[in-house]
Amino acid sequence: MTPRSGTLVIRWPFRGGWILATSARERVLLVGAGHPHLHVVTCAPALRAAGTDLIVLAPVDFHYSGLASAVAAGAQPPEAARIDVAALCRRHGVEHRVGRFATIDPEQRTIGTEDGGTLGYDRVSFNLGSVVAPGGMHLDPDVPAVKPFERLSVFVDRLDELDTSATPRRPVRISIVGGGPSGLELAGQLAARLRTRGLIRLLERDERPGAGLPVGARRRSVRRLMERNVEIRVRSHVEQVAADHLVVNGQRQDHDLAMVATGLSAPPTVLEAGLGDARGIPVRATLQHVDHDEVYAVGDTAYFTPGPLPRLGVYGVRQGPVLVASLLAARTGAPLPPFEPQREALRIVDLGAGRALAARGRWWTEGRGSLLLKRRIDERWLARYR
Ligand SMILES: Cc1cc2nc3c(=O)[nH]c(=O)nc-3n(C[C@H](O)[C@H](O)[C@H](O)COP(=O)(O)OP(=O)(O)OC[C@H]3O[C@@H](n4cnc5c(N)ncnc54)[C@H](O)[C@@H]3O)c2cc1C
Repeated sequence: MTPRSGTLVIRWPFRGGWILATSARERVLLVGAGHPHLHVVTCAPALRAAGTDLIVLAPVDFHYSGLASAVAAGAQPPEAARIDVAALCRRHGVEHRVGRFATIDPEQRTIGTEDGGTLGYDRVSFNLGSVVAPGGMHLDPDVPAVKPFERLSVFVDRLDELDTSATPRRPVRISIVGGGPSGLELAGQLAARLRTRGLIRLLERDERPGAGLPVGARRRSVRRLMERNVEIRVRSHVEQVAADHLVVNGQRQDHDLAMVATGLSAPPTVLEAGLGDARGIPVRATLQHVDHDEVYAVGDTAYFTPGPLPRLGVYGVRQGPVLVASLLAARTGAPLPPFEPQREALRIVDLGAGRALAARGRWWTEGRGSLLLKRRIDERWLARYR
């Protein structure tokens, strides 16, 4: 096991046992490097000065999902959405362990990694993102999904292969399962790329795609997709998805490629490690676990018990500074700051072909200006960590 670095443990014998004294430094383990943790890494110098040493356990790269559908459809190269976590940590003097979280022992304050390693902590924060929620469907393991990125990249490679041999007479048949904002983005982007070389089907269980968007915005997005010959099938209850077909309302339907975009849930490791359930790791307003003061969770992995939040990057982005303030306050014994989420967040759905749909609450607009705004927000955020 790796000892908690930065913690100087002094032991001396006392009445048949040991007395332990620790230096004031605290070791904070950041598990996963998503939106909020990337921000915490950039604050490492201030945290170090306050006596907090960070260590990050995460894969080498982070993939920004704001560009996921553009990457999936080939409108942007995968590098456009990538942040080099290793380089960011190096720049801010933070130790980075390349690996993935598997287990936790809150009593011992240790976590186990997928490759069998152990890391100790004084405080630990989880930012593991989310995965596609199968929602009762049977999904073959090799079927691509919008999240995590490993499953999205399967789609990118396969689409490139199929596109080289596609023709208007033999178009690539693509099924997109789920007509939420991610499904709409993908359908729009793919139709814009493949044009007559593609036959895109969007399967939605509801009466109309675009759940969570204002009614007018839902209608507009459907119109845009239909203009590009996307086949929209509503009231479609998909039961099974395989590499070459799916079963919908009891009928088999063949395809060359499928993508599952049926909403997001917490990664299975959250449940397996005993930290929470599919909703996420339950946290209080201070982002601390409901049962463990020294365990935090942020971003999509957190289940914010004061009022569940939609799984949107913007909440994770805003939790980053709160987590930093909390780690600093913990050094002085000051009250920990609560996270106060904004009531309504702006969301921008990139519909491809240079257009996007922006919505906040009941307000919405669609066109080129929305896409320019999205690009500006994406670029500014990505530039901060490059
Ligand atoms: C197609 C699509 C488009 C979207 N577009 C938008 C948008 O435009 N705007 C918006 O606000 N939201 C958007 N979202 C939602 C957005 O993806 C999430 O809300 C956001 O990514 C959550 O951020 P996060 O930091 O919690 O997690 P993530 O961004 O997923 O980051 C989590 C990180 O943890 C790492 N990780 C995972 N498991 C482990 C492990 N076991 N050990 C260590 N590390 C691990 C992952 O590799 C990843 O780097 C979109 C989602 C999808 C699917």
